[in-house]
Amino acid sequence: RKLGGNAQVRYEPAMHVMFERRRRLEMDLAQALEQGRIRAVYQPLVDLATGQITGAEALMRWDHPEFGFISPGEFIPIAEESGQIRQLGAWMLRQATRDAASWPAQLRLAVNVSAVQFSDLELVNVVREALDDSGFEPRRLDLELTESLFIEGGDSVSDQIMALSHLGCGLALDDFGTGYSSLGYIPRFPFTKIKIDKSFVDRVCEDPAHAAIISTVVDLAASFGMNVVAEGIEQASQQQRLIELGCDIGQGFLFGRPMSSEHLAQRLRKAA
Ligand code: C2E
Ligand code: MG
Ligand code: MG
Ligand code: MG
Repeated sequence: RKLGGNAQVRYEPAMHVMFERRRRLEMDLAQALEQGRIRAVYQPLVDLATGQITGAEALMRWDHPEFGFISPGEFIPIAEESGQIRQLGAWMLRQATRDAASWPAQLRLAVNVSAVQFSDLELVNVVREALDDSGFEPRRLDLELTESLFIEGGDSVSDQIMALSHLGCGLALDDFGTGYSSLGYIPRFPFTKIKIDKSFVDRVCEDPAHAAIISTVVDLAASFGMNVVAEGIEQASQQQRLIELGCDIGQGFLFGRPMSSEHLAQRLRKAA
């Protein structure tokens, strides 16, 4: 109050710009798919011990006609709030399975599925159709879910998760350790993988507490028969430490940035 009315006035323009950009992005997102401005890129998942590529995670990219590249960290939450993520997510499942079916090696494919997609009872059919149409084997597909599903998800979430599992797909817990949910949901569902968030990997070499958390997650995963994937590995020293802590699979700029399907296929041919 001491600053007078000015304080409020000063912040208003910034808020307004943010709000306008958000509204604009939501509007433009409606045409982005049909205009071919949404793309899928793929980041390698590697066997930490050998460095061999064993899979890839599909990640969405949006090239806006005016603003240029927009990070999924910005547009995915907008698409989730507007519901557009259902359409985008369905497109991604079809595109990624088709791309992965054409790769010159039998890799696993990971696709992110938003909690919002579970509010549409069609999700299981969407996944089944993507698999049928592409011919990609269900057992090579991992659906990446986040803890938010168990906090925000509705009553039908359990049934849908079980139905997805019955298709033969793997179920991965993404960004593990960053949410606020209890661990109680873990034994209730047939998860096959835990992805340890980058925030733990970042300081694994310097901070014994972070190493201890990772080691605990590795134990937790083992007792439920799940694999562990470490995200966001940027340094060889982190790779070494993660191997010591018992992680099998890793992902990060050290092994490869997200790249086009063609680029990944080329890299696989070179490695063969
Ligand atoms: P995520 O699923 O946890 O994906 C991993 C993110 O970490 C990706 O960011 C990837 O580029 C980034 N990353 C991987 N390794 C490194 C590293 O070594 N260093 C750094 N600095 N970053 C690394 P991206 O592509 O920006 O995606 C961000 C998030 O957006 C994803 O996090 C995911 O939650 C969401 N997202 C992306 N594509 C989709 C999609 O198709 N559907 C849904 N529902 N969400 C998506
Ligand atoms: Mg993911
Ligand atoms: Mg993640
Ligand atoms: Mg993450």
